Amino acid sequence: MNKSKEYNFEIEIIAEETPQVITNCHKCKKQTMFYCSDKFRVNAQQKNIDVWLIYKCAYCDSTWNSPVLSRLHVNKISRELHQKFMSNDRETAWEYAFQIEKLRKLCSRVNTDIKYRVASKQIKPEAGDITIKLISKYKFGLRLDKVLAEILGIPRPKLCQLAESGEILTNPQVSIKSKIKDDLKITIKALELGDTKLK
Ligand SMILES: [Zn+2]
Repeated sequence: MNKSKEYNFEIEIIAEETPQVITNCHKCKKQTMFYCSDKFRVNAQQKNIDVWLIYKCAYCDSTWNSPVLSRLHVNKISRELHQKFMSNDRETAWEYAFQIEKLRKLCSRVNTDIKYRVASKQIKPEAGDITIKLISKYKFGLRLDKVLAEILGIPRPKLCQLAESGEILTNPQVSIKSKIKDDLKITIKALELGDTKLK
């Protein structure tokens, strides 16, 4: 096989929803699931500004506010960001909704088992090994073996075998069981493309 030839794919992991949080609902009087409303609450008092991201109880619509900015002087926040909070800019809301470590400290649990889809783009169609570059704007703890099994149409145990025998390589070098990170490159040696999601 000619080693200079390879298939190159860019694969994007696209989150289709934000993680839900489990916290106490004062109306339901128990721990319930809250989903992100993609809306901010902005409160300005004198020269200080408070911003929260609003979550809603899945059962009764009560709100739970996740603190974004607390008592920040108006001069310390850019006009642009202030405008994004005021207009409930969705991208800005999602940036905060995916701050999973911060959310974990504020509530009982964060459900990162969210819906996502995989979008692939073939960059250079040739023959030989396959190299995949993974792109993921929002991180939610998705494991590399899970997403690779899905993309390649290979069961997870088989995938782990291939990794152990050096048929699957990653750059930078990480465990196949680690969480995915941006710009990770995965090379799979001489795989049949038949049943994969790669197109
Ligand atoms: Zn409730």
